Amino acid sequence: MSTTQANKIEINKVATSKINQVDFDNLNFGSVFTDHLLECDFKNGEWQTPVIKPYAPFLLDPSARVFHYGQAIFEGMKAYKDEQDSIWLFRPDENFNRFNSSAVRMAMPEVPEEVFMNGLNELLKLDHEWIKKGLGNTLYIRPFLIATGEGVIANPSEDYKFMIILSPAKAYYSGEVKVLIAEHYSRAANGGIGAAKTAGNYAGQFYPTSLANKQGFQQIIWTDDATHTKLEEAGTMNVFFRINDTLFTAPVSERILDGVTRKSLIDMAKKEGLDIEVRPVLVSELVEASKNGSLKEIFGAGTAAVISPIAGFSYRDEYYELPKVSDSFAMILKEKLTNMQHKLIEDTYGWTVKVS
Ligand SMILES: *Cc1c(COP(=O)(O)O)cnc(C)c1O
Repeated sequence: MSTTQANKIEINKVATSKINQVDFDNLNFGSVFTDHLLECDFKNGEWQTPVIKPYAPFLLDPSARVFHYGQAIFEGMKAYKDEQDSIWLFRPDENFNRFNSSAVRMAMPEVPEEVFMNGLNELLKLDHEWIKKGLGNTLYIRPFLIATGEGVIANPSEDYKFMIILSPAKAYYSGEVKVLIAEHYSRAANGGIGAAKTAGNYAGQFYPTSLANKQGFQQIIWTDDATHTKLEEAGTMNVFFRINDTLFTAPVSERILDGVTRKSLIDMAKKEGLDIEVRPVLVSELVEASKNGSLKEIFGAGTAAVISPIAGFSYRDEYYELPKVSDSFAMILKEKLTNMQHKLIEDTYGWTVKVS
């Protein structure tokens, strides 16, 4: 792979920014994009020169493999602005490495670090005005890679397109989240693609989730595909359970995505002196804990919502409501993590990385 071309970035700026048309107080998550995007094509076995250019639709051949065989991966990250107007990323190396693990699993070329990291840094510097200061204001970063090669032949593509798009976001409150524990559908299986951040994992969730929505549940808690007895993920987030004063989360596996939020919360819980156990949690344990009153909290963890508390769960037509706890672990951890990301408290972990 040629790194000489990937090292330099071509920059074509917009004539006029559209930032003044954006109402930053009323942003629907993931629906507004900044002025520019980063694009880098993979052709003839080589990464081409990355280009930063105005955000716009683009053309693809109708036979492009991404449309037919779903060779598509992505990442979700955020940028934050501190009180001194510096821009920060949170553990970006984790996203970069996971992106390339996903690429390998989907038989796609790995993206060079210069393209991903330098490209992202340059893009953020150019669109820096889109990152607002203050807790709760973030810029959601969506890197993705798609197979653009032509031909409806069921082989991996020869050509690919890597892009990064940016979307300003407000902290979002998901409201009351009631979840349904999966007994039939599965998100992932051993030997499958559950550990990769690939488009198809999301597409496969839409239908079972819509069925759950019709029953009045906002999300599904996925269980292991073989026995449906182990709790694995909440929608597209990792999931934590608090029984008495111990926090539990499942170990990552081929079926569970290795979330950056999840691993950060585990380390933070340890440092904060909270009791945390990483081990498979059974549906039966959860039901039992709810019945005897020891189940205190369930929450999802992921970059977009950070932490999403769950109000109750349904299993085998029985609804189990969670108590309202005042000393919520979810809130303690969320506050600490978001304050650290916004540089409002010291980052004693070395997780925050300055964009320069
Ligand atoms: C992205 C994702 C997560 C959360 O990962 P973060 O790195 O914390 O954002 C969890 N589960 C699934 C299935 C995901 O796709």
